[in-house]
Amino acid sequence: MLNKLIVGGLLVASLVAVSVLSAQQRPALTAEQEARLQIQPVPGKPGLFIIPGFDGNMSGGNMAVRVTDEGVILVDNKFADSFAGIMQQVRKLTDAPIRYVLNTHSHFDHAGSNADFMPAAQVIGHENARANMLRNGDAGPPSVTYDGRTAVFMGDAEVQAHYFGRGHTSGDSVVYFPDLRTVHTGDLVLWGDRMDGTTLTPFIDYANGGSALAWTTTLDGLLTLDFDTVIPGHGPLLTRADVLEFQDKFSRMMMRMTRLIDAGTSRDAIVTAIDLTDLNWPMAPERLQAIYDEIYSR
Ligand SMILES: [Zn+2]
Repeated sequence: MLNKLIVGGLLVASLVAVSVLSAQQRPALTAEQEARLQIQPVPGKPGLFIIPGFDGNMSGGNMAVRVTDEGVILVDNKFADSFAGIMQQVRKLTDAPIRYVLNTHSHFDHAGSNADFMPAAQVIGHENARANMLRNGDAGPPSVTYDGRTAVFMGDAEVQAHYFGRGHTSGDSVVYFPDLRTVHTGDLVLWGDRMDGTTLTPFIDYANGGSALAWTTTLDGLLTLDFDTVIPGHGPLLTRADVLEFQDKFSRMMMRMTRLIDAGTSRDAIVTAIDLTDLNWPMAPERLQAIYDEIYSR
């Protein structure tokens, strides 16, 4: 998610603001909200835990925590000031060192504390995620990159990272726990409500190589993996059927948009012409127009 970045036409100004985003600028969490963000086991998946995240504003992305006798593997690490809180939560489970950190993508609410983990851990991301972070001047670009697929092995665990193509950004990794039949999708899949009660919708980060036209094909790649449990970029644990539903909703949105464009609907008119109420995706007008531009210039 990058909700903060697409308010009005203030993309560039907001990008600057994000790099100095701090705890002080994020809304304070209530005790009830804090309780929702505590580390918890993924049911039926021994050794796998989640530190929940419901948005890019208050709680960050979902983190996966794989615990083995020899060390810990993390997927994502929330915001730039999240390191101490993450360590506190992981230390409730184990004193084993954190050896690997995998990034699902480059955004500040997923890879924000990379730099804090680097002294002790390898931080791994897709080569395009590193390129995006370097271009944007973000701290802690991954120190190890891959192109199509990679894996780390520790104790009895294997954790794979797969690149299936563009979608949310140009560098989205799907992280796969084959023995647990579980995937962490990053923001290629997100679900439900933010902590402030508003509804999550897909965000195509065109400034970082995202593509609405490629997104559902990228999900086809994800669906070639054998899994029954899904950790989305933000939101509750999901099933394989939920991913299929998400993909179907995305396809329907794109078909409607394409049909309207082919019928001559203008960039201004598309915002009111397209009806997405049955999808429960309240897409912001500027997000719809960005997709319009991609389809129009295809
Ligand atoms: Zn994101």
